[in-house]
Order: sequence, then structure tokens, then C-alpha cells
Amino acid sequence: MAPSDLRIVGGHLALDLVNTVEPRVPGATDFREHLHTPEDLLDWGLRAGLLDAGEAESVRAAWAASPAAGDQALRATHEVREATYGALLSVLGHSADAAPQLEILSLRWAAATARSALVPGGRGQPVRVVVGTTPAALVPDRLVTEAINLLRTVDVRHLRACPLEQGGCGWLFLDHSRNGSRRWCAMEDCGAQAKARRLTERRRAARATT
Ligand SMILES: [Zn+2]
Repeated sequence: MAPSDLRIVGGHLALDLVNTVEPRVPGATDFREHLHTPEDLLDWGLRAGLLDAGEAESVRAAWAASPAAGDQALRATHEVREATYGALLSVLGHSADAAPQLEILSLRWAAATARSALVPGGRGQPVRVVVGTTPAALVPDRLVTEAINLLRTVDVRHLRACPLEQGGCGWLFLDHSRNGSRRWCAMEDCGAQAKARRLTERRRAARATT
């Protein structure tokens, strides 16, 4: 699956970042990677709403001038992603200590803050913070900022993982359904697959008893 087909279902940019590998299994390293190249990263970032087309052009130009900067941004993104996932597992109570992950995010966040600026919002408007004043590092800088914002404010009651034990993919998402009943990352995907599997199992069991 190319990044352009990857579903964006997390309900928050930092969760969509976590969901760029599948399946999402704690501790696993043999996942399917959707962000292979700096170009994948830009493609996904545009679709996820991380940056706009004009910003993507600046980033592309910066990476064209220095391909090493593109590789570095991709590596930083992977690092932010895995640290965010680890920290969220701890928030969910699935792992005890997220101190090493938070340390990684702290360092990345400090660097991102150093590349941010306060700009006037215009007459009668509040001041704005612009993260990503350095195009080459804009993508990981914005992602770590999103991750920190989520980790600081997440309402754990709404944070869910698509259930691996029932054949789901482990992706994380915010459940904003009215009755808090969303179980799958996407019903038409993991939910439908699990339903089909249960049906097959029932048929098999029925056949075995006749
Ligand atoms: Zn799923």
C-alpha cells in the first residue's frame, strides 16, 4: 500500500503518525512500513493535514538541495513515531515506564521549539506560534509538537487500540462516538475482516457438528 492509500483514522495527527505501520504490536519490529522515503513522508503529511501545498514545496526544495536533510527528517520522524507509540502505551496502562520515550521526545521538542517563532496574528487577533521555520526539519518538528500536545491533553477514556487479540491491527484512535462504542480503527476494514472470520469459524463449527 502506498502512503496515498493509507487510511487516516486516528482522529489526531500524532495518532495518524503512529498508524503509519501495520500491524501495531507492542515491541514488534517486523511491521509493514508506510513511510519508506522522504517523499512518502511529504505525501502522507499533505494528506494528513500536517502541512499545506506551499509548505510542502519549500520542504521538497530544501530536501532536493540537501538529500541528507530529507533522510534525517525521515529518521527523526521514525524516532518521534516510535517514542510517541511507547509513551501512549504507557498512558493506556499497557506498559509501565515511558521515561526513555519521553526523554527522546523532550530533546526533539526542544529542538523544534528552537526552530519556532511567534508571529503577529494581525489586528484584533491573538499571536500565533509557527512551528517549522526551517523547511528541512518542518515535518518532524511539527510531528513532535503534535505528539507533545496529544500526550499532555489526551483524555484516556477516548483513547483506544484496534483490538489485536480479536484480529484487529493495533492502530490507535480517539473514540468520539456518542456512546463510546467504537472498537475498530475502521469498521469497513478490520471490523469487517473480524466479522468475516467469525462467520467462517461459526460455519466451520456448524459443519463439524453435523
Ligand atoms: Zn484496525
